[in-house]
Amino acid sequence: MGKEVKKMVYFFQQGAGEGGAEMRWLLGGKGANLAEMANVGLPVPPGFTITTEACREYQTTQTWPEGLEEQIAENLRKLEEVSGRKLGDKQNPLLVSVRSGAAVSMPGMMDTVLNLGLNDDAVRGLAEQSGDARFGWDCYRRFIQMFGNVAMNVPHRDFDDILTRHREKAGVKYDAQLGAEQFREIVESFKEVYVKHAAEEFPVEPMEQLRRAINAVFGSWDNPQAVRYRQIHEIKGLEGTAVNVQTMVFGNMGHRSFTGVGFTRNPATGENKLYGEYLVNAQGEDVVAGIRTPKSVDEMPGEDLSEFPETKVSVEDARELYSAMYERLLEIKEKLETHYSDMQDFEFTTQQGTLYMLQTRTGKRTAEAAVKIAVDMAREGLIEEKAAVLRVDPAQIEQLLHKQFDEKDKEKAEASGRELARGLPASPGAAVGKIALTADDAERMAAAEKEQAAEAGAEPEDIILVRLETSPEDIGGMDAAVGILTARGGMTSHAAVVARGMGKCCVAGCGAVRPDEHGKTVTIAGRDYKEGDVISLDGATGQVFDGAIGLVDPHLTGAFGELMEWADGYRKMGVRANADTPRDARQALEFGAEGIGLCRTEHMFFEETRIAYVRQMMLSAPEVRRVAALLDEREVAVSRAGGEDRSKIEQRIEELRAELKGHRALLESALEKLLPEQRRDFEQIFEVMNGLPVTIRLLDPPLHEFLPHESGIQAELAGQMGMTAQQVAGMVKSLTELNPMLGHRGCRLGVTYPDIYNMQVRAIMEAALACVKKGIEVDPEIMIPLVGAAEELRVTREAAERVCQEVLAGGGVDIPYKIGTMIEVPRAALTADEVAEYAEFFSFGTNDLTQMTYGFSRDDVGTFVPEYVDRGILARDPFQSLDQSGVGQLVEMGVKLGRKRRPDLKIGIRGEHGGDPESVRFCYRVGMDYVSCSPFRVPVARLAAAQVSIELEDEVVAELASARRRPIIASAAAGTGG
Ligand code: PEP
Ligand code: MG
Repeated sequence: MGKEVKKMVYFFQQGAGEGGAEMRWLLGGKGANLAEMANVGLPVPPGFTITTEACREYQTTQTWPEGLEEQIAENLRKLEEVSGRKLGDKQNPLLVSVRSGAAVSMPGMMDTVLNLGLNDDAVRGLAEQSGDARFGWDCYRRFIQMFGNVAMNVPHRDFDDILTRHREKAGVKYDAQLGAEQFREIVESFKEVYVKHAAEEFPVEPMEQLRRAINAVFGSWDNPQAVRYRQIHEIKGLEGTAVNVQTMVFGNMGHRSFTGVGFTRNPATGENKLYGEYLVNAQGEDVVAGIRTPKSVDEMPGEDLSEFPETKVSVEDARELYSAMYERLLEIKEKLETHYSDMQDFEFTTQQGTLYMLQTRTGKRTAEAAVKIAVDMAREGLIEEKAAVLRVDPAQIEQLLHKQFDEKDKEKAEASGRELARGLPASPGAAVGKIALTADDAERMAAAEKEQAAEAGAEPEDIILVRLETSPEDIGGMDAAVGILTARGGMTSHAAVVARGMGKCCVAGCGAVRPDEHGKTVTIAGRDYKEGDVISLDGATGQVFDGAIGLVDPHLTGAFGELMEWADGYRKMGVRANADTPRDARQALEFGAEGIGLCRTEHMFFEETRIAYVRQMMLSAPEVRRVAALLDEREVAVSRAGGEDRSKIEQRIEELRAELKGHRALLESALEKLLPEQRRDFEQIFEVMNGLPVTIRLLDPPLHEFLPHESGIQAELAGQMGMTAQQVAGMVKSLTELNPMLGHRGCRLGVTYPDIYNMQVRAIMEAALACVKKGIEVDPEIMIPLVGAAEELRVTREAAERVCQEVLAGGGVDIPYKIGTMIEVPRAALTADEVAEYAEFFSFGTNDLTQMTYGFSRDDVGTFVPEYVDRGILARDPFQSLDQSGVGQLVEMGVKLGRKRRPDLKIGIRGEHGGDPESVRFCYRVGMDYVSCSPFRVPVARLAAAQVSIELEDEVVAELASARRRPIIASAAAGTGG
């Protein structure tokens, strides 16, 4: 008995598909949806899909798996039967498209071959069938170019040169103006180009063409841009691409034919209105490639073909046909949405008045549209409220929170004639940056900017990528840029689609832009710019401006507010913000933070008016400690000494006492200056937060970070402290550490220089007292950082408590406060039960915890972690997304041990991970009470926290949610299909 062969080919035709939408992992998004559309009765040209499993096997062995040959042959026979045509036939040839389609949408990254099946015989059959010889030869030359490029890597340029020569010879501007005879000649020249590059004749046997096209599509799974796309979007765990072999339908068979793409709702704004573009007498790739700029489907009912004076279709016929087609699209919109209960992005082609659906998939959308569509669909009863909350990717909504132009600044720019041009508003948001003219330049410039900025301690300047049009090879540069400007292409061009997915601002199809990538210059509306010059883009209006325009933070209203409200209804874990200033605190509140989880007090020290006193404090505190120790030593010694020795020691004691007094005076005067400043900071933050909890962390970084290393500043400081510059330089030097991140910082400072922490605690409690006296509620939490041993916390806690009691007793008011610690040293996590003895709350500092667990310096990871991620040594940068299996174990252990000792221990997380959706989910699963993240990520954390609550409670919804989320695996896009 023979071995049972797996089913590797699935057939579909209108009314009957062997697969369905749920088989995306096997049939790819495109294949699964073609089958699904066929089943729903939508007009799908018949075809078959070869599975992703077959692709994987081919990738491993470079041969077709057993049985694939037979299954393809059998399905091809069926296709010939259903379509009533035969591959390669002289009279009635069947032509097919061979398209890639992975389970996760990777637009344009992999290969496609159209018009397959043409050869010198079949082209005549096609000419006869269509009644148009020119059409036949045009299809044939397109096929040779595509096949040559995809299967044998023949460069497009060589084909394009031939076309240019023929256009010049014929004295015409567009290919569309060439005739049958010219295309026949072009076909001959194309074949020569093919022979030159491929060192073989162009294959005329259709089965051979099919085999090689299938293999090329299989192989395109691993082409560089596809690999890069998967890296950028963190798409992992897929088998490969499926291959769809489908009967060709032609949108370029005259003026009663057209092709287009549609969205069931507006993908930029979410408006519930059919949205799309079409091109008369064109093939699909003309729309996507952005070679001709398409028309909006809104114009379809009024289409009179007046752009085509040569047409044989009358104005009345045109209007009737195009209106009917528009109505048909509206019906399809309804059918798709009720069936898929989500916004769909579909491709259609009308061949001589008959409309076909070529593809549908969950449409990629901007963050704004994602939110509006989810909320609207819940209101329309298409989905549940819970599903709406699950439907929006938390990582994506961060886009909504990004900057826009300052309206006034923009008006000024408009009034002063700085608006250079307008293109299509392809992806919203505003961008200001330096011009880069190639993707490589954009990557290089962005890296250089980062490096320079790091050296200067400044923000890097952003990059705007300016291209004629973008192609999949540009993906890296698009990622490196903040905005993209293209001269050609529509709203569905590569640039537009990819930018929307990435959440980047994009202005597309801006005809006034003339880039010269070789000369590294660009002319915009007649003005010359060179690489590095600054321009600004408004992705919501399509405007391009000269120079920089001010950017402002966004305001969130409407659907966003509603979705967040729904999310909060499901969310069980708190969300706080890391905020150091009243301004940050206000921003955090606006984004829905329920408290401040981390106020880093050292950031307050760098203000110009304070830093000199901070330095004085930092230099005198160690001196006080040093001299006090010497004094202690001498005082012990003096009791044992006698005679001359004794008097010498006594004299030394006098000197040391004087010295100590001097240092102490310097320390105290610095603390006295800083105390009111810190008190004011805290008072303002308490005021803004108005009764919400505020966790204030006592000083953390190593002393030397504050110290002056330049001689000028050292001299100034010496003047202030009544010392010589040399003395100051010596003190600075003595405080320098070899390994400062593991050095004298955090509570180690609190233990050794208690005055600093005491001043800070006093400032916190005096601020709280002042607020309470003004009738403002406060909920202060004092946090002691970098504890590794419970004893460190005991000592610093006791000191802090003494100050608190003193202040409160003096004020005559009792204000509840908490003292807790950060768990950021692995040992603290391992001994969390002991640490919890002295802590009322724990806060996981996962930045340091990651640093110390991995042993990766958090300040130097740039040198190797990106390569680790590229090479798959690390799945993700552990400083961005919590390493759940490693660092996560310490977190989990810390939570368990801490709660064992103190069941009511309040626990949160503070590191950058607090705003990373996957890490937020983890925090909820291990039982944290809240997460804390930067203000801009508060909504992200709120949504992620709501989603994890729903998922853990509702298994059915969770199942659906994970199926929905898998295809967008951490990518910023909400797309699914192939
Ligand atoms: C941490 O270590 O995670 C933390 C929040 O503290 P910092 O980043 O200030 O060291
Ligand atoms: Mg830390």
